[in-house]
Amino acid sequence: MAKQAQVMVVTPHPDDAEYGVAGTVARWVGDGKDVIYVVCTNGDKGTNDANMKPEELVRIREQEQLAAAKLLGVREVIFLRYPDQALEDTPEFRKEIVRLIRMYQPETVVTADPYRRYIWHRDHRITGQVTLDAVFPYARDLLAYPDLLKEGLNPHKVREILLWGSEEPNYRSDITDTFDIKVAALRCHKSQVGDNPSSNLEQWLRQRHEKMAEGEDFELAEAFHRVEIWW
Ligand SMILES: [Zn+2]
Repeated sequence: MAKQAQVMVVTPHPDDAEYGVAGTVARWVGDGKDVIYVVCTNGDKGTNDANMKPEELVRIREQEQLAAAKLLGVREVIFLRYPDQALEDTPEFRKEIVRLIRMYQPETVVTADPYRRYIWHRDHRITGQVTLDAVFPYARDLLAYPDLLKEGLNPHKVREILLWGSEEPNYRSDITDTFDIKVAALRCHKSQVGDNPSSNLEQWLRQRHEKMAEGEDFELAEAFHRVEIWW
């Protein structure tokens, strides 16, 4: 039943994982780890083009996400396809995340920090909160979902959570060697970042990740709030 992967990335929209963790994902894959993506919403509000049909945008963004994941070496991408800007903290959504955690048994779960204050996309806040709740207590507890037990999906203890977008980062991951692939993965999201290779995306990202690496002995970092779980 289980298809084990060491890392599960739970992303609100197609492209958020690339901004948040793609450099680290590329490093993990290079180290031989299996990484899977869970994409919660279909991203159907992510355009300024008045002529773009939402269903067409969904199709485009899934293709962009698959291309980025392929480039990074992500093993599998699971699309939950909730409507963009309409994600809610529901028992159904939580159970879907629990089901996937039990199925893939990740050591590390990566998602958006739900505790970023004031201006933060509601889908990001809800994805982060529901994922944290799914890790503990729901994925862990034997009696949380008797029906999942019957399906052979036993409790699982995640070891580590990394939250991107945190106001209180306490862990910086070295992406100096994987920065270029992160930029390339972001460029796969053409509907979001445009398709002009001479745009200042790379420069903007470099400054952002240099700042995240301040105080470290490497040049470029992705910063997270890291929670280690001692069960
Ligand atoms: Zn997003």
